[in-house]
Amino acid sequence: MSFKVKLVLVILLINIFVVSLTLYFRSKQIEISIKERMIFRTQIIADIIVYSIDDETKLDRLIIGEYTEFIIKEPEIQYIAFFNKKNQLIEVAGEYNKKEFIFQTDNIFRITDNVYDVYKEIKGKDNKKIGSIIIGFPMQSLKDIIRKNLIIGIFLWAGATVLIIILNYFSLSYFLKPIKYLYESTKQIAKKNFSNKVPILSKDELGIISKQFNIMSEELATFYNKLKNKVKEATSGLEKANKKLREMDKKKSEFVAIVAHDLRTPITSIMGFADTLTDKEFKLTIQEKEEYLNIIRYESHRLSRLIADFLDISKIEDNRMGLDIKKKNVSELIRKALNSINTKAKGVTLSLESEENFREVYLDADRITQVIQNLIGNALKYSPQNSVIKVLLKQNPSEIRINVIDHGPGIPDEYKEKIFEKFYRGDDDISKKERGSGLGLAIAKSIIEMHGGRIWVEDATPSGSCFIITLPVKD
Ligand code: ADP
Repeated sequence: MSFKVKLVLVILLINIFVVSLTLYFRSKQIEISIKERMIFRTQIIADIIVYSIDDETKLDRLIIGEYTEFIIKEPEIQYIAFFNKKNQLIEVAGEYNKKEFIFQTDNIFRITDNVYDVYKEIKGKDNKKIGSIIIGFPMQSLKDIIRKNLIIGIFLWAGATVLIIILNYFSLSYFLKPIKYLYESTKQIAKKNFSNKVPILSKDELGIISKQFNIMSEELATFYNKLKNKVKEATSGLEKANKKLREMDKKKSEFVAIVAHDLRTPITSIMGFADTLTDKEFKLTIQEKEEYLNIIRYESHRLSRLIADFLDISKIEDNRMGLDIKKKNVSELIRKALNSINTKAKGVTLSLESEENFREVYLDADRITQVIQNLIGNALKYSPQNSVIKVLLKQNPSEIRINVIDHGPGIPDEYKEKIFEKFYRGDDDISKKERGSGLGLAIAKSIIEMHGGRIWVEDATPSGSCFIITLPVKD
């Protein structure tokens, strides 16, 4: 049942109640007024009788005779009875079937014989009772009047009710229109459609509510959109993080696979030669034994370097590589690093060119030494026999610069950045023969960057490569 129908029904019920009450009181009022009229008429008759008698002390049958005829002709009078002052009946005119008269006015609401008796004393000039009359009024006419009234009332009421229902229905339709629009709008909002506006039809309370509803739905829309965007952002952030995690996971697996593979080569070689050496069945010469032991030593060193590199790179990846920073003379540091490298096998000469009074800078001496050794090691690997590897030291107010120059094959432009990536190894014969971890330059780059410096490679003149390191000078 819709709100409108309910409202119409309630109004109808109230209407029925009020109209019924009105009708009831109206009929009561009619009764009372009729009763008063009857009493009044009786009084007038009593008064007329008094005025026309000579002897005020007694009621005379003759006098009465003069009146009875025309009184009885009066409308709505059934009978009239006259009594003397001792209440003895003198005369009765009209139709009656009473055995006994009661000397008081009937209660109009408790009539049994359909006749309403009105009793009146007739009083003389000195206000003394000289007799009395009882007039019987037929109740049928009274009832008829009341019934007629009631019927008219009911018809009027029915007509009014129909009119009220029709008027109510249309006026409610008109007044409830804003509520209908509000209802439709809430349904739209539930469907997340915020664009629907409630039309403002009036300036009354409903108009104000509609206006505020529109403001609220606008705010709701902005809030909802903001929330949606935030969820979107959060989701895409999560997706990105997830993707990164997956990439990292993949890289980790790749790392483990490469490490396992790289470690296997020297270990297999060491195990093979160790087995041969210890196997009694092989009758090895002293030279052979020495050769095998050299291979085992070489592979062990390689293995140790590989493990050191793997540990370093995993520390770098996990941000666990701490630096032990101290003020050091770089020129001194590099001189020592160069001295620790054995170049005799290849007949290569190492030369250091440094400016005088080289400044002291803050750095981790062990890590910088590691970088220099790695660069010189690579240069040595790729240098032709009997060539020169030159280390140049320069300084300016803000940084120091270390150049490591060799006369090897050099590095093609397209690989100048790639060689600093993890596990990158050149495809040339030397790289294949002298298998490193492919981590040396990646570690060097991380260490230099941790110092706030830079490392890159350029072509050397006339040939070869020139690795350049810069380190910032800070107090
Ligand atoms: P590794 O030496 O263990 O292979 P690095 O990271 O030290 O790994 O070097 C990566 C690659 O860079 C080498 O495989 C090589 O191809 C190239 N490279 C490094 N130093 C030189 C150099 N001085 N001359 C030519 N190529 C070099």
